[in-house]
Amino acid sequence: MVSPSRTSFSLVCLCDRDHRYSFNALLGSLEGEGLLGGALEVELVGDERRLLEACQRLEGERRPFGVAVSAFSTEAFDRYPLISSLRAGFKWAVVMVGGPHATALPESVLRAGAHLAMVGEGERSFPWALRGLWEALNLEPVGSADELVLKAFGGAREVVGGELAGEAIDLDAHLPVSFSLGRFGPIEITRGCPYGCAFCQTSYMFGRRVRHRSVEFICDLVSRMASRGLRDFRFITPNALSYGSSDGVRVNLEALERLLSSLREACKGGRIFFGSFPSEVRPDQISPEVLALLRRFADNRRLVMGAQSGSARMLARCRRGHTADAVVEAVALARDFGFEVWVDFIFGLPGEEEDDARETLRLMRLLSSMGAKLHAHAFMPLPQTPFERESLSPIPPALLREVDLLTSRGMAFGQWRRQMELSRKLSKFLKEENCPSVGVRVEAVAPGPRPY
Ligand code: SF4
Repeated sequence: MVSPSRTSFSLVCLCDRDHRYSFNALLGSLEGEGLLGGALEVELVGDERRLLEACQRLEGERRPFGVAVSAFSTEAFDRYPLISSLRAGFKWAVVMVGGPHATALPESVLRAGAHLAMVGEGERSFPWALRGLWEALNLEPVGSADELVLKAFGGAREVVGGELAGEAIDLDAHLPVSFSLGRFGPIEITRGCPYGCAFCQTSYMFGRRVRHRSVEFICDLVSRMASRGLRDFRFITPNALSYGSSDGVRVNLEALERLLSSLREACKGGRIFFGSFPSEVRPDQISPEVLALLRRFADNRRLVMGAQSGSARMLARCRRGHTADAVVEAVALARDFGFEVWVDFIFGLPGEEEDDARETLRLMRLLSSMGAKLHAHAFMPLPQTPFERESLSPIPPALLREVDLLTSRGMAFGQWRRQMELSRKLSKFLKEENCPSVGVRVEAVAPGPRPY
């Protein structure tokens, strides 16, 4: 129990739109550990201006406070100046940086100015680090954030949690939302993905082994959220149809039915969205049985499906584990069952040649004629993936023209033009950063012996 006479520790979180779901999970884990409202005073801000204002105010109290920032690699260019200015501008701010970018390139994040690079699963490492700071703060007075971090952890460092620390968390042991702070959103039901697609960080960040929250845990959460007035329930998972599967590859129909039918009860007349944003489905797992289940229990009539390429060569190179024909069959079946289907494609994949692009174009035309909507992306090299050192391949003008045409007819959409620019910037940035790959150099400090 936290003694009320002990000094509390303030934490301000940059909880902007793109990172709100991650912070929901972190705040849920702090709530589960009994830290909210006790040792910790948490303030959530929605943008950088408010973050700096909050830091200014806390700096005036002349005692250490924490600043939590999450970052995707695709926004590292924007986050690095912020991280540097937090470190340089606020003597009392302990700068904690997490998210996929810190997991993939912790050294780079530390070089940018972070005191703590939060690597891997934050549910355990975050409370661990905050407890460490709070305990050190209560042992003896310090004269700066640097001094506190030195006392608590021996200096700026990586804090590694979960799978990367050799001990994947049990999802049922952590709340993915915070009831006390009223922070709700999609519920993560599965973590980890066996496929290891070469462009995607998921398997490299959370492992290839799938872990699922239990039906009981998920439904209890949904029921409590429904009692708080929430009506729409969505789920975070690399692949919605992998729920309950022991290997993430073979569909477990029984587990899916148990989850979906129980959710129907638990949502108290609300709506269940399954296999659409923010999750998706794989084409090779679509079957009449699966679609019948979704029609029966879920409210969405749209599915989001990953195809990525129409070229057999590129699908193999990306380690997708399915064929272009599987996509056509899955879309046809889903359309028969009355679903609208959004299909993801990635242009400019490393090693993609004109013939590959032509195959992709052919598949896009076919799917479009079947009524699918195409979601176009440009390849972006993400750290920690097999393609991290690769660059965007030239995209044939014919493909670009076709996508523009489909977009003007409302049959395609996406930020692919902006992503092409971002991709070049990211490629250059990663080459310049030149950090060694994760897994070789990280030190597992959480969970582990605490510094108190
Ligand atoms: S793209 Fe989908 S299937 Fe492939 S590794 Fe990522 S989450 Fe898994």
